[in-house]
Amino acid sequence: MTKEIAAIPGDGIGQEVLPAAIDVLEALDRDFEFVEGRAGNAVYEREGTPLPEETRELAREADATLFGAAGELAADIILPLRQDVEAFANVRPARAYPGVDGVKPETDLVFVRENTQGVYAGIESDLTDDVATLTRLITGEASRKIAEYGFEYADEHDADRITVAHKANVMRTTDGLFVDTAAEVAEEMDVEYDEALIDALAMHLVMHPEDYDVIVTPNLAGDVLSDLAAGLVGGLGMLPSANVGDDNALFEPVHGSAPDIAGEGIANPSAMILSAAMMLEYFGDDEDGQRVRNAVETVLEDGPRTPDLGGDASTEEFTDAVLEEL
Ligand code: ATP
Ligand code: MG
Repeated sequence: MTKEIAAIPGDGIGQEVLPAAIDVLEALDRDFEFVEGRAGNAVYEREGTPLPEETRELAREADATLFGAAGELAADIILPLRQDVEAFANVRPARAYPGVDGVKPETDLVFVRENTQGVYAGIESDLTDDVATLTRLITGEASRKIAEYGFEYADEHDADRITVAHKANVMRTTDGLFVDTAAEVAEEMDVEYDEALIDALAMHLVMHPEDYDVIVTPNLAGDVLSDLAAGLVGGLGMLPSANVGDDNALFEPVHGSAPDIAGEGIANPSAMILSAAMMLEYFGDDEDGQRVRNAVETVLEDGPRTPDLGGDASTEEFTDAVLEEL
């Protein structure tokens, strides 16, 4: 059956890397229909909003969304879109690719971050001019959901181990609920499970990232630690991500709109193409997802490279090499 994909290039290099990912998806024998959605600075200037209702509707109705990048107005674009697909999980693989100068080339792990709760639930208030408070929201239901998702992800990707990050020694009630719920889910599953305190995990990740496969985290910790892991593998142009809801999802590169190189045709489309590979897996097509990943990896190993990786290839030349490989 035809899958409708909302394709929202957005700003800057989003306009260059999203078409590359679409070319790759079109080279596979899949029945995708791409519908372009408008968003970004230029849209704001023309229409007074960076994210027209029509685009949100498109994302809500589509089977999945591919998103390029957003510039200054990112918060008004990507946050509502993530809500539109009702994303409860943010999935960020940090994997070192050949030819990319990373601090820790042996890194190959995935963060599964709870995306709706914790200190990002938006429950903040001013008590007085000088006193502000924040409520940290954790529910058993959302904790169970993210833990189950993490275990399913680990199972589907043949991960050896799942680690649940928490700080329940201090935040006994909230993270206590988070980690106890994950431990309950672990009993029903057949993947090696352990727990790690967030601070100790930060240190251990820097020293021995190879010890981790899938790491399930509360919201804020996942935000911080997944950036840390991104630093370990080096290339911002390499990192894909998924925002997954119950029956919708949005896939986007971790990088932004890169205004310094936008329009030059030299952006590295790997992160966007790898995000498209995550979409294939989301649709249950692990084989094509793996094919796309392998093709990117092979080109990085001995094909043309974009300038961010020390080469002189254009986005198009790199993409053509990936297509050839496929
Ligand atoms: P934004 O506000 O949109 O996030 P930014 O200036 O923070 O813009 P990023 O997109 O976050 O830019 O990128 C940071 C740096 O990494 C820039 O120098 C950019 O050129 C580089 N970069 C990011 N993504 C890529 C990519 N896909 N290919 C090549 N270089 C990239
Ligand atoms: Mg940025």
